[in-house]
Amino acid sequence: MPDLLAAEELETLPKAKTLGDPEMSCDVIVIGAGPTGLACAIEAQKIGLKVIVLDKGCLVNSLFHYPAGMLFFTTPELLEIGDIPFTTANQKPTREEALEYYRKCAEHYELDVRQYEWVKTVMGEDGKFSITATDRAGRPHDYKTRKVIVSTGYYDLANQLGIPGEDLPKVSHYYGEPHPYYDSDVLVIGGKNSAAIAALDLWRHGARVTVVYRGSQLHHHVKYWIKPDLENRIKNGEIEAYFNSSVQEIGVDHAVIDTPRGPIRLKNDFVLAMIGYHPDYDFLRSMGIELSEEQCRPVCDPVSLESNVPGIYVAGVIVAGSRTNEIFIENGRFHGRQIADDLKLKLGCG
Ligand code: NAP
Repeated sequence: MPDLLAAEELETLPKAKTLGDPEMSCDVIVIGAGPTGLACAIEAQKIGLKVIVLDKGCLVNSLFHYPAGMLFFTTPELLEIGDIPFTTANQKPTREEALEYYRKCAEHYELDVRQYEWVKTVMGEDGKFSITATDRAGRPHDYKTRKVIVSTGYYDLANQLGIPGEDLPKVSHYYGEPHPYYDSDVLVIGGKNSAAIAALDLWRHGARVTVVYRGSQLHHHVKYWIKPDLENRIKNGEIEAYFNSSVQEIGVDHAVIDTPRGPIRLKNDFVLAMIGYHPDYDFLRSMGIELSEEQCRPVCDPVSLESNVPGIYVAGVIVAGSRTNEIFIENGRFHGRQIADDLKLKLGCG
């Protein structure tokens, strides 16, 4: 995300808009401009509703933060929204092609997407909600809306190891590209797809890679074209791996790993903790949305996706709570139509 503006730049900016402004009120506010949020906005717009989409980052912010050149696991038609064809030269799209595709979708439907507006509070009740978002300069923007759709995804909040040294600057939960890790000792934590992809990419671009995983072997969810590649690198001694192992402590230039043979201390320059992500449960609770005890699934009607708070809908991966491997773009994109069908009934439009 671009840096906050300096104080002198702020002075030159127009003042934030306020509630009386027609630009600040609408039928539906969608919180989150990921593929699911965009699909929700498109479907609500198609039935004649005035929609505003707010996002704390850029359009499809999570995809933007995926590794450079990343190949999706699925074919492009499974990522389509708004009935707009997504075609790619190769079998599977790259991150860059997906960014292009979703930009074109937003443009085609002339969606009112307000980037870099971070929703802080949702107050009020069905038919008259008040939403306050802050922009990059920290200025508040107050909105009025009849309905709210929350599609905030899960990629912003990384799972934590809870060990000493996790907050050192050399530790990251996001893998961007291999170049900064060239000729360095990199520890990759985790045994599923993100960890496997990062480990291989790093090794292929000149990093010395060690994988640490709490499981006894790479997880069976690792894609069938990735798993043998990494297994062979490990077998050949090109990538070091510790299974049934966990990182106990991270220091400035070392890491301590608890292995079945006892603790070992490794020289280390960088740690990539590819241990998954989770939805912002506190934000959901702040709106009055109840979450199930075990899996933190928001209480909602499975057909309309309206939550226990009348007028507030949930969409995308957050519907699955902590079971983030149940909903992807491929199925979350249909939530928009489910919600629009309910909005049509309740608002008598379409
Ligand atoms: P993930 O599937 O949630 O895997 C997290 C890994 O971290 C698991 O191996 C897990 O161990 C381990 N882990 C979790 N908490 C831990 C802890 N406290 N200490 C140590 N290890 C811990 O995350 P992901 O690999 O980032 O994948 C997220 C989603 O993105 C998945 O749906 C994946 O398929 C998708 N993905 C797609 C692409 C693509 O389209 N190209 C690329 C990468 C990922 P256990 O195995 O023991 O649970």
